[in-house]
Amino acid sequence: MKIVFATHNENKLKEVKAFLPDNIQLISLQEIECHEDIEETATTLEGNATIKADYVFDKYGLPCFADDTGLEVDSLHGAPGVYSARYAGENANDNDNRKKLLHAMQSISDRSARFRTVVALRLSKEEIYYFEGVCDGEILEEERGDSGFGYDPVFQPLGYTKSFAEMDLDAKNKISHRGKAIQSLAAFFNQ
Ligand code: IMP
Repeated sequence: MKIVFATHNENKLKEVKAFLPDNIQLISLQEIECHEDIEETATTLEGNATIKADYVFDKYGLPCFADDTGLEVDSLHGAPGVYSARYAGENANDNDNRKKLLHAMQSISDRSARFRTVVALRLSKEEIYYFEGVCDGEILEEERGDSGFGYDPVFQPLGYTKSFAEMDLDAKNKISHRGKAIQSLAAFFNQ
């Protein structure tokens, strides 16, 4: 079965390929010559994942899945959540977002947080399936480690003494939000 993963991120594509069974042929947006940046205008992770999967399905007629991730901080009432990529502004980079988060958390003692990933799988006009992965943890008081991306240096998963940015990619993928969501997707394909 051929299926599109609606991402422009080559690293994600590689990561996901490793999880899926051999009978699934993963196709990139590059391969179908979809170069647009699909706008994420929904107010939930489910909504944004659906927009991306449906865009490809409607335009190219191919089954497709898409993911969306947010970092939910309890003491910030779930922010930055669905707005994680744009937390410090429309053109913010990862560094700007982390700085804003550490600043917002200054002198806050409840540092509990979680990453949540939602995958939407559009198989046909009638069929859409959702898979979720959650990784609980806490926001550190300062950045630690330099691997990974995004909020990795300020997030430490529950039960670990290393931030995501201090872990190697394999170790992170085994416990991460995206890893868990993709494992559920893989289990669905394996059925
Ligand atoms: P996206 O939905 O994968 O584009 O993620 C939205 C935002 O969440 C990104 O801009 C990242 O800043 C952040 N993010 C997503 N996944 C991770 C992760 O595994 N570690 C750290 N930050 C992440």
